[in-house]
Amino acid sequence: MRIDVITILPEMVRGALMHSVVGRAISSGIADVRVVDLRDYTEDSHRTTDDTPCGGGGGMVMKPEPIARALDAIAADHRPDRVILTDPQGEVFSQPIARELSAEEHLVFVCGRYEGVDERVKEHLVTHLYSIGDYVVSGGELPAMVMLDAIVRLLPGALGNAVSAEQESFSDGLLDYPQYTRPRSFRGWTVPEVLLNGNHADIARWRRGQQLLRTRERRPDLWERYRPSTEDMRLLAEAEAAAAAS
Ligand code: SAH
Repeated sequence: MRIDVITILPEMVRGALMHSVVGRAISSGIADVRVVDLRDYTEDSHRTTDDTPCGGGGGMVMKPEPIARALDAIAADHRPDRVILTDPQGEVFSQPIARELSAEEHLVFVCGRYEGVDERVKEHLVTHLYSIGDYVVSGGELPAMVMLDAIVRLLPGALGNAVSAEQESFSDGLLDYPQYTRPRSFRGWTVPEVLLNGNHADIARWRRGQQLLRTRERRPDLWERYRPSTEDMRLLAEAEAAAAAS
């Protein structure tokens, strides 16, 4: 998969791409990520990417022309499937959207800065607006990296253990189950006995029960949309009983 990231802070983006799962996906060729310096698409000696807002008010707004030129240059090389503007006014990004995007061949992220981006970019130059949540950060680079990471780790081969992407929070509409590692007892806090007895069927049932219980307790919004099976309801009751007993 190819991903272009258009930014005025290429070093910030490059730094974020060098490590861990995303870094390995890039070095092994699973993801072809290209960092595009927006200033390379300016035409004045100051390499200006922003200007004062029409109608007045504080701050600066990103100009449409350099963004349009950068997008034209990318499209001339290869036509992207989606051009995404990181925008707090966009659709809130989620695991289902990450999964959908991981099936595309070529994505472009445009990172906003300052007070935001000229509205004509949103209306005419990009195809999607995505937000990482209902809060404002200072620029689109971190949001783009959050989304890029969520997408790239779903690409085949990106995670060493293919099972791990399947069992995570949100993948089936539920939160993940609690994880423990050694030692069995740490400061007197013990690992649940069921995880130590080697009975895989028991472990799977316990984990499912925990997923159901914590999703219902912590995320009523997800629980509302989830359709539990009869077996789910039984495991949930078991998990509730165990929690009440402890
Ligand atoms: N004035 C704008 C916010 C500008 S913040 C508004 O209130 O809508 C500057 C840039 O940071 C934005 O253009 C966007 O690219 C990025 N950004 C800030 N918060 C974001 C969020 N929650 N999700 C995605 N991008 C965000």
